[in-house]
Amino acid sequence: SDTLVEVRDLRMYFPIYKGVLRRKVGEVKAVDDLNFDIKAGETLGLVGESGCGKSTTGRAILRLYDPTSGSVSIDGTDVVQLEGNDLRAQRPQMQMIFQDPQACLNPRMKVADIIAEPLREHSDMSAEQRRERVNELMDAVGLARRFANRYPHEFSGGQRQRIGIARALALNPKFIVCDEPIAALDVSIQAQVVNLLEDLQKELGLTYLFISHDLSMVRHLATRVAVMYLGKIVELAPRADLYNRPKHPYTQALLSAVPTPDPTVEATRKHIILQGDVPSPAKPPKGCNFCTRCPAVMPICKEVEPTFKEHGAGHFAACHLLEQDQSEAGELSQKQA
Ligand code: SF4
Ligand code: MG
Repeated sequence: SDTLVEVRDLRMYFPIYKGVLRRKVGEVKAVDDLNFDIKAGETLGLVGESGCGKSTTGRAILRLYDPTSGSVSIDGTDVVQLEGNDLRAQRPQMQMIFQDPQACLNPRMKVADIIAEPLREHSDMSAEQRRERVNELMDAVGLARRFANRYPHEFSGGQRQRIGIARALALNPKFIVCDEPIAALDVSIQAQVVNLLEDLQKELGLTYLFISHDLSMVRHLATRVAVMYLGKIVELAPRADLYNRPKHPYTQALLSAVPTPDPTVEATRKHIILQGDVPSPAKPPKGCNFCTRCPAVMPICKEVEPTFKEHGAGHFAACHLLEQDQSEAGELSQKQA
């Protein structure tokens, strides 16, 4: 299918200042050289431990931050290059659903006004048309219309997330970044919100970047999955490939910690325990950024950064082990020939 979002060489570095003169002493490489596409209508899962740069990636793509460098083309427009009114004009088609809906719901505004706010800002609808649209949106997310005049604090966490979703949908976006949208909710209502997001996607043809630390949940939702570690995407593959045949040692370790529903599989699985902590993104290691913790580390890993590239159809990874396999395979086939 067609590509909707094209991310190239995306970097988001935050300067570190010190002292009263605010001298720049370094930078945090929160997002470091990402390259990936999101296809129209798919859900790309973006997984990794907290602090790996997932949320920063989502925000940089939506221009809630100004990326340090790189490009993000959404439906053919590079949003990194846009300023002022041009960026404003692009806003309606790219929206975000936040982990904590509380943070984006003004406590002094009624629900109807919260949902209508983007319509007031970005459309020339009359008050009557806005009321009608708010009703439609409340229906779409499963909120009773009679709640329209209530305030956010009168709702449960799940209902507040529905308000956040209705607001994000108000302007008919094409692309939505969902940043841990259920992480703050009770387990009992997480599935309801996930199902709602899936239903809305089908109905409205939405494209999602779905950010989560929960690999089981992403497995349920995603078309393809990208794994992030210390500001970089280390592996990206169609869902079944990633979960059944992970190629990168970090992905293998992450997945080994996820229980499988099949007891025979579970009994034979090797749980990979990673040593050490994630290094600071202000001081990433030389070479492969996973080299300080990788069970398969080799001398080259501490010197040369592995290239993120395709190893098998649609299966991308950055690891010297994969290069080695290929060159050995190459040597072997040369000998045979
Ligand atoms: Fe491990 Fe080396 Fe591969 Fe990095 S490049 S993941 S350190 S084997
Ligand atoms: Mg986050």
